[in-house]
Amino acid sequence: MEFDHLMKILMVGDSGVGKSSLLIRFTSDTFADMSSPTIGVDFKLKMVNKGEKRVKLTLWDTAGQERFRTLTSSYYRGAQGIVLVYDVTRRQTFTNLSDVWLKEIERYSTKEDCIKMLVGNKLDLESERVVTKKEGVDFARRHGCLFLEASAKSSTNVKLCFDELVQKILETPS
Ligand code: GDP
Ligand code: MG
Repeated sequence: MEFDHLMKILMVGDSGVGKSSLLIRFTSDTFADMSSPTIGVDFKLKMVNKGEKRVKLTLWDTAGQERFRTLTSSYYRGAQGIVLVYDVTRRQTFTNLSDVWLKEIERYSTKEDCIKMLVGNKLDLESERVVTKKEGVDFARRHGCLFLEASAKSSTNVKLCFDELVQKILETPS
């Protein structure tokens, strides 16, 4: 299919935060409560329209390798956008963003102008929340990321998260 832009976008973050669920919600508008790491796909394709332009997204997911805290350099290579995901009900997944994942991104990503979108997922579990929205906002500001809280389950902000990321990538000269 014809397209004007081709973008590589990565999902990054601890195991279980909902990376695959966010991708499946975005690409197929479904949610599975019992998803297993094997559901993790290598990548999915999605066409989006931005004004007159057709943008073809290649969305890269892990198939469970992130449990060992190492994604290979080829995973990061050439990415224009990275979705950094944590779980608002698990503090460790938030602290690992700076302790683990941002370090990996710095080490491996080949584009300095790679755009990052921070996503606090599982917003539907408000009563179990331990990471406040303000902590997310502050982290995003400190590390130059876009930021949204979302829920793959209820579908809140999922489309918006990819839309804002794609929009920012298009606006950023490469
Ligand atoms: P991944 O390891 O980061 O790819 O995480 P998964 O997408 O496999 O999700 C891990 C678990 O969290 C699964 O049981 C999902 O059903 C669940 N999950 C994912 N997103 C949400 C969400 O927004 N809300 C709730 N309540 N559960 C979610
Ligand atoms: Mg997964």
